[in-house]
Amino acid sequence: MDLTLGVILGLHCPVYRGLEAALARAADLGCEAMQMLPYRRHDPPTTEECAAFDKARRASSVKRLFIHSRFVPSLASSDSARRMRSMGHLASELRLAAALGGEAYVLHGGAYSVGSSFDEGLRFFKESVTRATAEAGVKVPIYLENVPGGGRRMGGTLEELAKLVEACPGASACLDTAHAWAAGYPLSTAEGMLKFLSLAHRLLGADTVKLFHLNDTRALLGSNRENHAHWGKGFLGTESLKTLLGRDEYANVVGIIEPPLGPAEDDRASLAFVRRLTARAS
Ligand SMILES: [Zn+2]
Ligand SMILES: [Zn+2]
Repeated sequence: MDLTLGVILGLHCPVYRGLEAALARAADLGCEAMQMLPYRRHDPPTTEECAAFDKARRASSVKRLFIHSRFVPSLASSDSARRMRSMGHLASELRLAAALGGEAYVLHGGAYSVGSSFDEGLRFFKESVTRATAEAGVKVPIYLENVPGGGRRMGGTLEELAKLVEACPGASACLDTAHAWAAGYPLSTAEGMLKFLSLAHRLLGADTVKLFHLNDTRALLGSNRENHAHWGKGFLGTESLKTLLGRDEYANVVGIIEPPLGPAEDDRASLAFVRRLTARAS
């Protein structure tokens, strides 16, 4: 149990041994929050499995649950058939998130099509999310996440993320530190992190950032590449993370570590790294 004030710490847990094994991993590691991609191979859990998981999770020490999107990459595509498919998937993923008891659903912007533009992609994205949300008929808020950026991928910059959030009524933001670094924000120093957070504050507003993905990374700055690392093994390190954890405005915001897939002991070390800084920062 994390008794210090500050960001509420959680873990992205793999579900290849089942949903309840993922929950056990988060609980065993003392996490108050968890995130998961709730698919084994490509199959979503059944209604009964969702209900059993929801019950077990509510009885556990893991009080906050976030569901990450999986099958919705083409919400901004110019191809209407692909867009329709992604809308259908988004509606069912939102219903799945509700059935599992998720407090929010994390979504990437995806990419606009060749020959299109960010602005046109944004219009398609807005329409897709609006229609899918109405079709889903559940009240699970969407958190839009910044991505490593590059090419036609939307949401690499905070300016783009702010436009995506604004386009989706009721949406909030999730900031991933590894993605921001890959998109070119120099977060490895306290100063770089402060600048990034100040810009996020200005563009997104004080209460819009509801979730952090607290990831270290081995990708190069501005490389647009994803290469999550355990804390202490990547380029971001202590000063940067301490700066984020020390901010009063994020005292009730959840920070999820999305570690490289591996044994629970590696996750434990990453969590311990962050917890030490949380204790010092508060
Ligand atoms: Zn993500
Ligand atoms: Zn992330």
